[in-house]
Amino acid sequence: MKLYLVPTPIGNLDDITLRAIKILQSVDAILAEDTRTSGVLLKHLAISKPLHSYHIFNEHQTVQRLINQLKDGKTLALVSDAGTPGISDPGFLLVRECIKNDIPVECLPGPTAFVPALVNSGLPNDRFTFEGFLPHKKGRQTRLMELVEEERTMVFYESPHRLLKTLQQFADVLGPDRPASVSRELTKLFEENRRGTLSELIAYFAQKTVKGEIVICIQGGEGKKGEKRRKERSSEFEDNEDDE
Ligand code: SAM
Repeated sequence: MKLYLVPTPIGNLDDITLRAIKILQSVDAILAEDTRTSGVLLKHLAISKPLHSYHIFNEHQTVQRLINQLKDGKTLALVSDAGTPGISDPGFLLVRECIKNDIPVECLPGPTAFVPALVNSGLPNDRFTFEGFLPHKKGRQTRLMELVEEERTMVFYESPHRLLKTLQQFADVLGPDRPASVSRELTKLFEENRRGTLSELIAYFAQKTVKGEIVICIQGGEGKKGEKRRKERSSEFEDNEDDE
């Protein structure tokens, strides 16, 4: 009785770990976000196991059935299309139900897009916040405004056709001079890590047809401290003006 969460490559198939292969070979069944996508990977790894669908649209209905299977003593592995299940991918609900039902859960370490993007960015990574995808419509503006006081490096997932619009919105809210980076097609043949201010990144990507998968990293700001310091500075300035 155990649920494994097994990370799979985000591009380069060599990034599958030896332990991921061993676990996928050993489980009773594999739950996949897209059985066709995972089928290709499993074929490449010469692994033949029952493959069941587990995706965002059937997550709620499927969880109880899977909990019953696990309680019957089955060992299952959850994989997503790419990267670590549960990170901007289905998985959280199943993990939470397993924990509630005292079913052991183990997430293997392995590929995920935000770690190489953050490290490649060259931005401070001693503290960072993973923001995933911004909401497309409702709540987007509120979320953007919340970022104004963020002091840690921020990491976002984004699709290529929204990249420019999102960078422009970041520049409007955080200022055009904020250091940032865009990582595209990580681990793939045409991997690109472009670093610069938000306005430099906008100018660069505006000249291109943006393709591929994308992670945006943005350096944190001065937060409330910066706001306070700005206010202090302006009041000092006013005081000095009074002195003169
Ligand atoms: N579970 C995945 C993980 O662990 O990173 C994330 C899945 S999420 C549905 C897909 C998003 O991850 C993409 O839109 C992109 O923002 C990011 N991503 C995935 N693979 C990537 C890659 N090779 N290069 C850059 N970003 C990638």
